Amino acid sequence: MPIPSLLLAAALVSTGLPPVHVALAFGSEPTLPPAVAAAAVHEAADIWSRYRVVVDRTMPCASAPDEAIVLTVRAGRSRIPSALDTPTVLGAINFAEDGTPYSILTVFFDLLVQSVGLARLGDVGEDRWPPELRRRAVGRALGRVIAHEIGHYLLGSRGHSSNGLMRAVQPFGELFGQSGAGFLLSRADERRLARRVVR
Ligand SMILES: [Zn+2]
Repeated sequence: MPIPSLLLAAALVSTGLPPVHVALAFGSEPTLPPAVAAAAVHEAADIWSRYRVVVDRTMPCASAPDEAIVLTVRAGRSRIPSALDTPTVLGAINFAEDGTPYSILTVFFDLLVQSVGLARLGDVGEDRWPPELRRRAVGRALGRVIAHEIGHYLLGSRGHSSNGLMRAVQPFGELFGQSGAGFLLSRADERRLARRVVR
């Protein structure tokens, strides 16, 4: 008999079952600066740590630990020039016909870098940010895009939620901003995760 998801979620917390481990492998893409990739992994790990999912990084040719789900992050090249006032697709994951997600996450880093031009921190437009601040904001946004795609993988769903991490559209101000409040799983997604994930 299936265990109701709330009970299962409670059981997961109380029994201290091992966390799910997602290891990200980055291709040797010159378009992803190492410092930005590192900041992105940090942000994605921070988002998923609330749900007992450990996200870290594996080197492209290294063998990952047996228990890890290895997801490859590759930078796609967008063919459509971004119209910055319209929602922009910044990440993608494909699914097989039977609904199984493939383990490749595509991020459109070129569009992300263009989009940062729309973001403001307080009253300061992006063109006046110090380089370090810009690098951190881009890394953070990339991490949130990756975290969203990890969500599609772990939830086994192409679907979107009306709020939180699995929203279809994440406003630029939130995507690049410091607060991570808009990047939590909705209650429904948390329940789905508890049902899906076998630890
Ligand atoms: Zn999505």
